[in-house]
Amino acid sequence: MVIIGLTGGIGSGKSAASAAFAECGIDIVDADVVARQVVQPGSEALAKISAHFGASIIRANGSLDRAALREKIFANHDAKAWLNNLLHPLIRAQIIQQLQAAKSPYVVLVAPLLFENGLDALCQATVLIDVPEALQISRTQKRDGVSSEQVRAIMASQWSRQEKQAAATYIIDNSGTVADLKRHVESLHRQLFELATTKTSQ
Ligand code: ATP
Repeated sequence: MVIIGLTGGIGSGKSAASAAFAECGIDIVDADVVARQVVQPGSEALAKISAHFGASIIRANGSLDRAALREKIFANHDAKAWLNNLLHPLIRAQIIQQLQAAKSPYVVLVAPLLFENGLDALCQATVLIDVPEALQISRTQKRDGVSSEQVRAIMASQWSRQEKQAAATYIIDNSGTVADLKRHVESLHRQLFELATTKTSQ
């Protein structure tokens, strides 16, 4: 299975780019979606989290109260490390399972922290959705109604634009329109399709 990693900082356009890949018939595995699936109501992980942090992190409907959990791990290094040790292997295993189940000529793994969490090691090539930082901030503010400081704080916890540019195999510039982004994705898709089909026929 040819796995292509797709990443980019907050608000860079990963969701928009993966939607364009999906329109080309490519299966998408989304690390953020998997991260929610592993703690869904009734899951073993959620039971462990509740046993560790207390039942107050479970909502009345049985789902994880993310805000309450964030508060528990905020500024608490040990609690954060405990949670990461529990969740990272589960998320990784579930990502691998979904990648293996993919049916398209290649599969795209979307992850905001693809490089930061070493998920690029699962990939044959990586794609960076790249925008200037000012645009990242303005698009995220418009989407989420948050302050520029809040966006900057998240950006500070991610690799810099330069580090990601240096690590990526392909870079897609998303400073134009959504239609421009779609065209860039379609063009890269043709290359990747070629690469994947030659690889599998060998
Ligand atoms: P996050 O990591 O925060 O989930 P993301 O990388 O998935 O973000 P998107 O949600 O795809 O980013 O894009 C951020 C916002 O910018 C969205 O509201 C999206 O509709 C908008 N957007 C994406 N690409 C463009 C573009 N080329 N022109 C204008 N707006 C765009």
